[in-house]
Amino acid sequence: MTVNVSFEYFPPRDAEARNRLVNGTSARLGRFAPEFYSVTYGAGGSTRDGTFDTIAQLLSAGYDAAPHLSIGVDSREQINTLLDRYRDIGVKRIVALRGDIPSGMGSSKRYGNNAETLVGWIREHSGERFHIEVAAYPEVHPDATSASADLAFFKNKIDAGANSAITQYFYSPYAYANFVERACAAGVNVPIVAGVMPITNYESIRRFSDGCGADIPRWLDKNLSEHRNDEKAITSFAVDFLSLMCEQLIQLGAPGLHFYTLNRWGATTRICTNLDLI
Ligand code: FAD
Repeated sequence: MTVNVSFEYFPPRDAEARNRLVNGTSARLGRFAPEFYSVTYGAGGSTRDGTFDTIAQLLSAGYDAAPHLSIGVDSREQINTLLDRYRDIGVKRIVALRGDIPSGMGSSKRYGNNAETLVGWIREHSGERFHIEVAAYPEVHPDATSASADLAFFKNKIDAGANSAITQYFYSPYAYANFVERACAAGVNVPIVAGVMPITNYESIRRFSDGCGADIPRWLDKNLSEHRNDEKAITSFAVDFLSLMCEQLIQLGAPGLHFYTLNRWGATTRICTNLDLI
C-alpha cells in the first residue's frame, strides 16, 4: 500500500535517551520512509530545550523533523525567538497547537490565545517559510460546546494559514470519515492526516483517552481489558485491529497516517509491516 506516514515522539529525558531515539528508534522506523518525525512541546515551555535538541539531532542525522509548538503561556517574543532558531537549523514544518497547560501553570481554558492565534503569529513573523500543521478532532475536542462549534474553530486555524492537519487518535474510522466530510462541506480543502495511537497498555490508553476525549468503543474496551495484565497479548490484539483500521482509513482516502509512537518502535513497526508500507 502507498500512504504517507509520520512518527511522533516526545522529547527524551536526557542525552543518552535522545541518542537511542535518534540513532535506534528512528533508524528502525526509517524503513517506512516517513515524511517526517515530529517532537512534542510541553505547553508552558517545559520542554523547550528538549524539543529543540531532539529536532536538531534528528535533522543532523538526516531526518526531516517537525517541532510541535504550543502557544501555552509563551509570549510572542519567546515564540518568535524559537521560530528564528528553528529557521536557522533548517526546520521546514511546524505543528502549531494551543497546548495543554500543565497543572499549576494556569488553565488553558482561561487565556484567549489558541492555535488560530499561533498560526497567525507564525505567518506574520515567518511568512511562508514553514509548512504549518494543526490538530483536528474527529470525536470533538473536550472544550467544545458542540461538534459544529469545534469544526468552526478548526476552519479558523486553516483560514489563518495552516497547510494541513493531523487528527487526535480515534478508534472509529467512521468518526474520521464523517469529520473529513463535514470539514470539506465547510470549505476546508487541506489534507487531514489520521492520527493513530498503538495500544500496549490498558490503563495508559484509558487514562490518555479520558483526558483527550478519544472514545474507546465498548467492544474494544472489553477486549483490551481482558488482556490488561498481559502486554504481549494486548499489543498483538491492538496491532491486528489497528492494521485493519488503517487499511480502512487508506480506503477512505486518508492522505497519511501519523503514529503516536510514545518513543517506541515495536507496535508501530508491526502495523506498518502489516500494511506492507516498506
Ligand atoms: P485549538 O484548536 O486552539 O482549540 C481546541 C478546541 O478548543 C477548539 O476546537 C475549540 O473547540 C476550543 N476552543 C479554542 N479556542 C476557543 C475559544 N477562544 N473559545 C472557546 N473554545 C475554544 N499538546 C501539547 O501540549 N503539546 C504537544 O506537542 C501536542 N501535540 C499535539 C499533536 C496533535 C496532532 C494533537 C491532535 C494534539 C496535540 N496536543 C499537544 C494536544 C493539544 O494541545 C490539546 O488538544 C489542546 O487542548 C488543544 O490544542 P489545539 O491546538 O487543538 O487548540
